[in-house]
Amino acid sequence: MTTTPELGTRSLPLLLLGTESDPASERGVSCPGALPPASDPALVERARAAKAALGDQVFVLGHHYQRDEVIQFADVTGDSFKLARDAAARPQAPYIVFCGVHFMAESADILTADHQQVVLPDMAAGCSMADMATFDQVEECWEVLEEVGIADDVVPVTYMNSSADIKAFVGRHGGVVCTSSNARRALEWAYSKGSKVLFLPDQHLGRNTAVLEMGFSLDDCVVYDPHRPEGGLTPRQFRDARMLLWRGHCSVHARFTKASVDEIRSRVPDVNILVHPECRHEVVVEADYVGSTEYIIKTLAAAPAGSSWAVGTELNLVRRLANMHPDKNVMFLDRTVCFCSTMNRIDLPHLVWALESLAKGEVVNRIQVDEETAHYAKAALDQMLALP
Ligand code: SF4
Repeated sequence: MTTTPELGTRSLPLLLLGTESDPASERGVSCPGALPPASDPALVERARAAKAALGDQVFVLGHHYQRDEVIQFADVTGDSFKLARDAAARPQAPYIVFCGVHFMAESADILTADHQQVVLPDMAAGCSMADMATFDQVEECWEVLEEVGIADDVVPVTYMNSSADIKAFVGRHGGVVCTSSNARRALEWAYSKGSKVLFLPDQHLGRNTAVLEMGFSLDDCVVYDPHRPEGGLTPRQFRDARMLLWRGHCSVHARFTKASVDEIRSRVPDVNILVHPECRHEVVVEADYVGSTEYIIKTLAAAPAGSSWAVGTELNLVRRLANMHPDKNVMFLDRTVCFCSTMNRIDLPHLVWALESLAKGEVVNRIQVDEETAHYAKAALDQMLALP
């Protein structure tokens, strides 16, 4: 076991994984054995100069899970919901640089004006959860629902963390996009339109919302596995279920377990457990507070000095919150630390490259959703923005 590393200006009780390969790791999770390097002063200066040269021409959006070296250049920061709304807030800026992952940049392209171009500094910044539901798999699932005779009763709901293709599929079938902030409202709306919901692609958010916020039982939920014939479900299971959960998850949040909660409760007296609803059900039921990234930020801001908090979400954000609240004992929920590796793809060299290219009039790594996909995806996004 390694010792706790230095985290910014404060130490967190963390044990990083070693530099050898991590058998428990999977795509979407980075266990590098070291924290990201401090910002290179020369690159910081180049990013500053390029952004200053662009002035109002560029609008930089930064997701909360981004590295500090990148987030310092964001004009606005937020979770995926806030950034989707903020994307359209600067219609005069021809360039939107999205420091986040691919599906977020797609949503920004859909929600901004035609003359605005969205740039993702590194095209490899995808999302393992979004990749767990492909268009062909979801089409096939819908065919199964038709064969079983329940498709007319099903309203599809997709988490923001899905590709534009999936959002368009949902829009085409009269459904809605949701985020972790409004999942309950989206589900209530969906159940006013049909008796069943197909929830894509995060089974944990769907299950946690249905069971903990809407009074469903675990038996009301079944999991559709796109890698098994008919999703691995019998016609009877399809007919009896109220909530059809897609077998997808966030590779970062799914790492937290009940054992993480038990361990920290035994180690830190009076600790408050604060987790994101992308965590497994077994973790969420043990937590004291559950909510979206924005909820986590607000809860810690309002917490009394001297209180202890174990936070179950992405490490860049937890580390930033710990530095923002030196009067509180803020720690990562698990002693084995992993970042979202795809979020971390956006680093200072990529941001500098994107900004300097734009300053020269060259648009690199443009994210552009085709017109038809954008049309139907926007229908599902607009339905979300119109939720009460
Ligand atoms: S934290 Fe999870 S859901 Fe978010 S981008 Fe990374 S893998 Fe995707």
